[in-house]
Amino acid sequence: MSRHTKIVATLGPASSDPQVLERMVHAGVDVVRMNFSHGKAEDHIARANAIREASALVGRPVGILADLQGPKIRIGKFADGRITLERDAAFILDARCEMGNAQRVGLDYKDLPKDVKPGDVLLLDDGRLKLTVQKVIGHEIHTAVKVGGELSNNKGINRQGGGLTAPALTAKDMDDIRTAAQIGVDFVAVSFPKSAADMYMARQLMRAAGGGDALLIAKIERTEAVANLEEILDASDGIMVARGDLAVEVGDAAVPALQKKMLRAARDRNKLTITATQMMESMITSPVPTRAEVSDVANAVLDGTDAVMLSAETASGKFPVEVVEAMSRVCLEAEKSNEVTLDREVLNRVFTRIDQSIAMAAMWTAYHLNVKAIASLTQTGSTALWMSRLNCGVPIYALTPEVRARNQMTLYREVYPLLMSQTHQDRDVLLWEAEQILLDQGVVEYGDLIVLTIGEPIGASGGTNTLKIVRVGDHQAPNAYA
Ligand code: PGA
Ligand code: MN
Repeated sequence: MSRHTKIVATLGPASSDPQVLERMVHAGVDVVRMNFSHGKAEDHIARANAIREASALVGRPVGILADLQGPKIRIGKFADGRITLERDAAFILDARCEMGNAQRVGLDYKDLPKDVKPGDVLLLDDGRLKLTVQKVIGHEIHTAVKVGGELSNNKGINRQGGGLTAPALTAKDMDDIRTAAQIGVDFVAVSFPKSAADMYMARQLMRAAGGGDALLIAKIERTEAVANLEEILDASDGIMVARGDLAVEVGDAAVPALQKKMLRAARDRNKLTITATQMMESMITSPVPTRAEVSDVANAVLDGTDAVMLSAETASGKFPVEVVEAMSRVCLEAEKSNEVTLDREVLNRVFTRIDQSIAMAAMWTAYHLNVKAIASLTQTGSTALWMSRLNCGVPIYALTPEVRARNQMTLYREVYPLLMSQTHQDRDVLLWEAEQILLDQGVVEYGDLIVLTIGEPIGASGGTNTLKIVRVGDHQAPNAYA
């Protein structure tokens, strides 16, 4: 049984060893995430090389996602590395402070004092500590501690309700975009976008850096991004439900319903989705997940996410291989209970594109004829993307000659990307090659029916326009192979 839902694993010290990486890929990692909040350009380049080697060794395609740090607003450093804040204590966030102490600390975003007003609630370290703004005096924000605790260097700051104005792409992000383009990553994730304009900007920078064919993922983690979800979706190839920062901004209790809403909205618009953060958090230190984590992963699968993501679990946890195995097991089981229902709403839609119409026809035919597999011969993967937005219970094998398209399709739910040589212009040879690959993979046998889509004429770069139902082995090897 193949898993429908894809697994994204964040790389870090716990997953740097080539053998560990190979075992993680073997356990089922589909996409690796390189977190540009940590590490230098050399580290990311070395990681990308290591993952490409592991992928080749295991014989399984792995996509690479570069996750830009974005304007996460952070406090500065403390002389002693950390302090402890008591409830009701006075504490100052001071844009001009160089080295912090128990009374004040610096800020990396110097304009923060202009963005806040008395009464605002500021959350530190993903919401562990809470401060109320009392007054703002020039470059100083005077606060009272509402929820105290230990506070160490460079922790993040969010404002409850959102509304901080730092631009979405920082100077560091622009450098990192160049590194990502140099690596040739398959996906770029933009942190803290507020609007479509932020995504257009990222797309332009990617193009200028020569990485324009990477798919662009918007991390939804700001109050404004939730409000502007539709325009952000239109400007992106996919979204990440970034529950860490999102929970801090909108309140943790609002996140589960938002997750469902956002996954649905993205699928309806033919966009990709990643559900992220704390999915198997306890497995940072424990070899087994909690019941709650198992439910969380299973629910994301039932919500229709393309992928579930691991963060610290694989970047710095003690069980980077076991957590991938556990996640994979939970996804597989959840998928069994996922009812196969072709979305009837689709029937009322007007299709605007030929490849979309063929993709939809393929899904309905595959479902009603109960075929073994759908095979999509595709250059860019767009037909496979249309198909993967519906769930008809038949696996979609996407055959492409493009390494880039194959690697990007690693993220598509229920799509299994395969590389084919496709050097022939002859349609019969191509179809025969596609059949051979599916036979080699053991996904079909002689006599099985498959629904196949292809663009004709072959070689002319146009979209998919043909649907064919094939009985495997019915036509003979073309002359070229006879
Ligand atoms: P991060 O993004 O891990 O880069 O903060 C994900 C999230 O906020 O959930
Ligand atoms: Mn985040």
